[in-house]
Amino acid sequence: MVGTSLALRLKETIRGEVYANEPMWRHTSFRIGGPADVLVVPKDTEDLVVLLQALADVQAPFYVIGAGTNLLVVDEGVRGVVIKLAGTLNGVAREGGNVVRCGAGTHLPALCRKVASWGLAGLEFASGIPGTVGGAVAMNAAAYGWSMCDMVHSVTALTYGGERVVLGRDDLEAGVKTTRVLQEPLILVETQFLLREDEPRAILGRMREHLEERSRKQPLSVPSAGCAFKNPAGGGAGRFIDAAGLKGTRVGGAEVSTVHANFIVNTGGATARDVLLLMERVRDAVYDKFGVVLEPEIRVLGG
Ligand SMILES: Cc1cc2nc3c(=O)[nH]c(=O)nc-3n(C[C@H](O)[C@H](O)[C@H](O)COP(=O)(O)OP(=O)(O)OC[C@H]3O[C@@H](n4cnc5c(N)ncnc54)[C@H](O)[C@@H]3O)c2cc1C
Repeated sequence: MVGTSLALRLKETIRGEVYANEPMWRHTSFRIGGPADVLVVPKDTEDLVVLLQALADVQAPFYVIGAGTNLLVVDEGVRGVVIKLAGTLNGVAREGGNVVRCGAGTHLPALCRKVASWGLAGLEFASGIPGTVGGAVAMNAAAYGWSMCDMVHSVTALTYGGERVVLGRDDLEAGVKTTRVLQEPLILVETQFLLREDEPRAILGRMREHLEERSRKQPLSVPSAGCAFKNPAGGGAGRFIDAAGLKGTRVGGAEVSTVHANFIVNTGGATARDVLLLMERVRDAVYDKFGVVLEPEIRVLGG
């Protein structure tokens, strides 16, 4: 069933937003990507369960995204349904003690500011990571030696069949930029964080330091998807790319950032093909020069 007819059917079934043939560049921080047959933003978790049932009935393939800040969507777009959770499922509540319950679609920097105002520390490292809380926990996003799963008490997720499961931190099997949520895969709908008390001013001070460092070291005014490659053993990926003399290398509208060598930026009109060719060129040059294999950190969607 193609975009328009599937979208019409889903509009009759769920309460959330449904778009046919939706350009994915509008939903990624890279500002790159062809159309998804259908893009859906469910109203809440119950709506998501109804959606999963409807998709199972018509056997439509689907993909879950948060805010698309770690994604490269290919130029041909996505066949099937993209379920976008940014901006929905977004409640934040303080529970007893130092536990905070947070919906998967919540903007991560907003969560960090909120818990800081409550005098709860632990998420300062994440205050400059764009994207949703669900995406960050699913990917075990990391910075400054900390990663999201360090702060997780438990998560609630849905199987692709719509069944609810609760996983403790150890059940997440967190690794470098991965968790069981991505491997199975599951859809994360809520996370409980276990934080610690501290002075709001001290917490906000640490957040400010991290944000200032990011604005000095990262190309934040141009579209990107963050670091293009995972750090290999033996050093930061950016160091190897810089030492290979690749800063400023371009393919079409894609460029190895002159500010941070591990960022590929869209200087305007870059296609996904440009980015993939540039990543290949960078990977080959670093391997030829240092014998180091770079693995992509950006996740490719569609095709
Ligand atoms: C300027 C910039 C700086 C960045 N800095 C960092 C950094 O310091 N550290 C870092 O780790 N990353 C960084 N990133 C990358 C990115 O922001 C993070 O990985 C972020 O956590 C991704 O969240 P998202 O909601 O955008 O996920 P998306 O990009 O939408 O999705 C990423 C993956 O998670 C899956 N996913 C998303 N939501 C869910 C869910 N609810 N349930 C199950 N799976 C889900 C998707 O299927 C996909 O595989 C940066 C990106 C940019 C643009």
